[in-house]
Amino acid sequence: MREMMTWVVVLSLFALFLGSVTDYLPFALNGSTSSVLAREGEMIEKVHKTEQEWRKILTPEQFAITRRKGTEPPFSGEYNKQDENGVYRCVCCNLDLFSSDHKFDSGTGWPSFWQVIDSQNVAEVEENGFFMKRIEVICNRCEAHLGHVFDDGPPPTGLRYCINSAALKFVGSES
Ligand SMILES: [Zn+2]
Repeated sequence: MREMMTWVVVLSLFALFLGSVTDYLPFALNGSTSSVLAREGEMIEKVHKTEQEWRKILTPEQFAITRRKGTEPPFSGEYNKQDENGVYRCVCCNLDLFSSDHKFDSGTGWPSFWQVIDSQNVAEVEENGFFMKRIEVICNRCEAHLGHVFDDGPPPTGLRYCINSAALKFVGSES
């Protein structure tokens, strides 16, 4: 009996350890049970490129975040404090993703939006970690990893799209 308890403790610690390191791994261990929740197969024409092609057009940081599900350190991204009017596009395929009209300062250190510019342009993927369930947000055209969406955002949607600056390209609306 005592031996069994020991195993339970050991296995729990191991699971905790795995859960905490998966965020930092360069590949999608924590996406192993992913399933696309919404908008699969809608009218958006997909963009597919090989890893080498992506590496050619992206910086190493952009590649690590969008193609390897990385996360930039909080308060480090160039758009965290950006408050000019304009549109945030996918850094990989230029699809319009977010508008400055829906941006707010969440205090988390990442650009945050309470709404997507067009719900067709992103897809949401359920991530089932060992102890944590999160909703990943990806570009619906090229499947770039953008960030996550949480349900603790401001009205009117109550959503908080927590997005990596490195996944975005801002285009100002002054012309
Ligand atoms: Zn894209």
